Amino acid sequence: MSHHKARICIVGGGFGGLFTALGLTGVGDVTLVTSEDHFTFTPMLYEYVSGEVEAWHIAPRYKELLDDRVRLIRGDVTEVDFAAREIAIGGRVSRVAYDMLVLAVGGATNYWGIEGAEEHVMPFRKVAHADALRQRMIDTLDSIPPDAAPQDARRAATFTIVGAGASGVELATKMADLLHDAFARRGLRGEPRVMIVEMGGQVVPGMDAEIRGVVENALRDAHVELHTGTRVRQVLPHAVGIEHNGQQSEVETSGVIWTAGVKVSPLIERLDVEKDKRGLVVVEPTLQVRGHKNVFALGDIAFYKDVVPSLSGTAQLAFQQSGLVIDNIQALLDGSPPGAKHFVELGEAVSLGTESAAVLAGGRVIDGALARQARFALYTSRLPTWQHRLRVGASWFFGGKPPRPLGL
Ligand SMILES: Cc1cc2nc3c(=O)[nH]c(=O)nc-3n(C[C@H](O)[C@H](O)[C@H](O)COP(=O)(O)OP(=O)(O)OC[C@H]3O[C@@H](n4cnc5c(N)ncnc54)[C@H](O)[C@@H]3O)c2cc1C
Repeated sequence: MSHHKARICIVGGGFGGLFTALGLTGVGDVTLVTSEDHFTFTPMLYEYVSGEVEAWHIAPRYKELLDDRVRLIRGDVTEVDFAAREIAIGGRVSRVAYDMLVLAVGGATNYWGIEGAEEHVMPFRKVAHADALRQRMIDTLDSIPPDAAPQDARRAATFTIVGAGASGVELATKMADLLHDAFARRGLRGEPRVMIVEMGGQVVPGMDAEIRGVVENALRDAHVELHTGTRVRQVLPHAVGIEHNGQQSEVETSGVIWTAGVKVSPLIERLDVEKDKRGLVVVEPTLQVRGHKNVFALGDIAFYKDVVPSLSGTAQLAFQQSGLVIDNIQALLDGSPPGAKHFVELGEAVSLGTESAAVLAGGRVIDGALARQARFALYTSRLPTWQHRLRVGASWFFGGKPPRPLGL
């Protein structure tokens, strides 16, 4: 098959799919089908909530990243017909035919079947979710009378974050800083209440022990209440039911933000391919879907055996895997055998409030304001396309912007 005629269809424009499309631009007849009109650099979604970065920094439109050699279709793929080599897209009559297919649709929020969760919690995976959360904090603050008693102001400004993984602690420290700042600016008495509810026994499980120590201190400094060994039983419109050591209680809350789990996307649930017990698509070491030599899967939807546990379900992994998919599609088009690769941990970085972060690089942990700058520099280098990196790098000059107070 000649390179230029090969129809390569990539489904999903996140870390796995977008970087694959960028790497294959010009190699074949490339089509990217994806739900939204922009990429999302999720590791900086917290900074977007706090206004330290803007949407154009972390959620550039595909039109700005891809040139016209990539055909862009905005839509949700609803079905893959492996026999006919076609995909169906919601709302479109005509199907898209492919010679090579890359599946990179990522995960979806997992509510674990908890009563009321799907209806009442705020998920946190997209720019739209971050916008809704910021607005919820502003609306909550606006509803507190200036002369409210400290305990009433605190009750009104209670937010509950479910999950103490990196996402939960990054979000909690950011929200706590923003809400404390807003209390001071508005002259409100007392202090806001930000709590994390975590079923397990510790924060950031799987991360380096030294980073964990830094994270625990940061949570204390930010006055974030940490409830480990605590299970969410039920979510109501303005309250959350929890259980700790068999004791049940209900906490009034202005928002429950869910960072406690990912499940496979509905498209993958429907796909008739071999999967592991979590529903992930089983791939060969070449990232080819088992039994389908011309179909690749990567990122959050793929079960890849040779990977350290802390890497699975990360942007780092999806990004590295895109390099292997690019090489292997080129190899197949050249008539060469596809290869395998060992993926490595590229370091850990956690944002801790609006002034600080913790970064593990080269076996050393740094924290504080310097780590915040290092994290910005690191993430600038991971953004897609050198043109976008340059624009963002010039705009941030390593430190981002000061946070934007809530309501301004
Ligand atoms: C708030 C947050 C913070 C995170 N922070 C970090 C971090 O600091 N470091 C890290 O390594 N990882 C982080 N992650 C995890 C990381 O975002 C994921 O592991 C990574 O995005 C997975 O890449 P992916 O390509 O598999 O999927 P995604 O990046 O999720 O991309 C999937 C794409 O597919 C599209 N799509 C979905 N369904 C369909 C469909 N049916 N048809 C067409 N398109 C579809 C989606 O719109 C999306 O564009 C974070 C995740 C979140 C939510």
